[in-house]
Amino acid sequence: MTDLAARILRNDRRALARAITLVESTRADHRAQAIDLLQELAGHGRQALRIGLSGTPGVGKSTFIESFGAMLVERGLTVAVLAVDPSSARTGGSILGDKTRMERLSRMQGAFIRPSPSQTHLGGVARRTREAVALCEAAGFDVVIVETVGVGQSETVVAELSDVFVLLLAPAGGDELQGVKRGIMEAADMIVVNKADGDLKATANRTRADYAGALRLLRKRPQDAPGFPKALTASALQEEGLAQVWEEITALGDWRRAEGHWQARREAQARHWFIEELRQSLLARLETPQARAQIDAAAAQVARGEAAAGAAAQAVMASLQSGGESL
Ligand code: GDP
Repeated sequence: MTDLAARILRNDRRALARAITLVESTRADHRAQAIDLLQELAGHGRQALRIGLSGTPGVGKSTFIESFGAMLVERGLTVAVLAVDPSSARTGGSILGDKTRMERLSRMQGAFIRPSPSQTHLGGVARRTREAVALCEAAGFDVVIVETVGVGQSETVVAELSDVFVLLLAPAGGDELQGVKRGIMEAADMIVVNKADGDLKATANRTRADYAGALRLLRKRPQDAPGFPKALTASALQEEGLAQVWEEITALGDWRRAEGHWQARREAQARHWFIEELRQSLLARLETPQARAQIDAAAAQVARGEAAAGAAAQAVMASLQSGGESL
């Protein structure tokens, strides 16, 4: 076993941070090292409870994770926090990565916080997050929280790598209920209406009831325990309702384990990520300069009517399979 792998298994935070940097890197030699490392760590048998948390900017995600995470650490659990931030691809900066976030939690011994790196495409975000989660699991964290802003497809990525997916919402008037995309609602195991404090408390309770109603209209999934998906209220700022959120998450987790859904979901996710990895690898082979040139040439032939699309595609594929790099 390499030193880095051994240190990760001992929950060495510096080693973990270095390994995450490795999986984030786009350099080919780093990629090769990351693949070896992940293979070395495969089969360690450790499982964290992976909580996906999604919500629009300003809804209170960092405040929630700070309070919620601190509560878990105070109960003796270790907590890793990862952020998926696809918006950084567009802005070049990271919304979720700024250093002032979760200061209290970041100072706690039992917590590990990894901000989001700048990324270029969602496929990269998905792989990086999935592999970072795997590293945190190998390091033995009890809980891994994966946070994402509710934009684009990032919440789908997070839903596909979490055991329990929580959607954080703000108190709002009835019309805004339609603002939540159906896909996210369908992926949620729990909706938490945050900011249920002070003047906002009554609105938060109404919003919760609205969403509870909306959730009841959704088709039941096999992995839904009785009463789930559920809508709750909380105040991340006042640290209220957080214990109940945790109770519901663990109750759902226990039920899924007992019913076999937990393992089935993990296996389905692992399969999904493997196929995705394969797909990305195949696509990457079409992205080399040689392959590009060949594709462009074939496309020109198709455009001029000299070749049919199907035959041209087959010819390109055959040449790639036979080591098209030489072409
Ligand atoms: P994020 O963008 O989703 O991470 O949201 P933040 O955690 O940065 O919070 C956005 C704003 O909402 C900040 O001003 C917080 O202080 C405030 N906020 C967060 N949680 C609560 C809460 O439970 N109650 C109230 N009243 N404000 C909150």
